[in-house]
Amino acid sequence: MVNKRAYEIPFVGLKPGVHPFSYELNEEFFSEKGAEDFANAHANVKLSLEKSSGFMLLKFEVGGKADVSCDRCGNPLNMDLWDEFKLVVKLVDNAEEMNNNEEDPDVFYLSKTESHLEVSDWLYEFVMLSVPTQRMCSLEERGGAKCNNEILEKLRQMEVKEVEHNANTLWKGLDKFKEN
Ligand SMILES: [Zn+2]
Repeated sequence: MVNKRAYEIPFVGLKPGVHPFSYELNEEFFSEKGAEDFANAHANVKLSLEKSSGFMLLKFEVGGKADVSCDRCGNPLNMDLWDEFKLVVKLVDNAEEMNNNEEDPDVFYLSKTESHLEVSDWLYEFVMLSVPTQRMCSLEERGGAKCNNEILEKLRQMEVKEVEHNANTLWKGLDKFKEN
């Protein structure tokens, strides 16, 4: 079980200024959050929280590694996670209403009556956004040890059949033309 309180920052007790936090996130954390195709995940997130009067600036630095599937052959790929995200948390009286009307995803409103800031959803979301969008064996690996050659061969055979099929259709058309 993910300990929810581990991701709650009691910001009210913090002095104005910058406060560093660090989170080690494992596979259990990601599966409880509903991650799919994200095995052997180990992410570390450094969060720096700058407290000012009425608002807080949050900077998330994501690092680590996780296995995702190659889009082409399905083989597991161990990928580096790396990215940075910034967020402003503003303390207001009508947080819910303000959040509903805010279009900027980097701005979040928190009620002035709150004493804790829950960061687990952001940790999850930002790690997911740190996964490279290009999930493929590199060109050198295509057909190499890490790429799934069986699948590639099947894909190649399917392409050949497709070409043959098109060629047959073309000849049939010509035969018909000759008969006339
Ligand atoms: Zn591959």
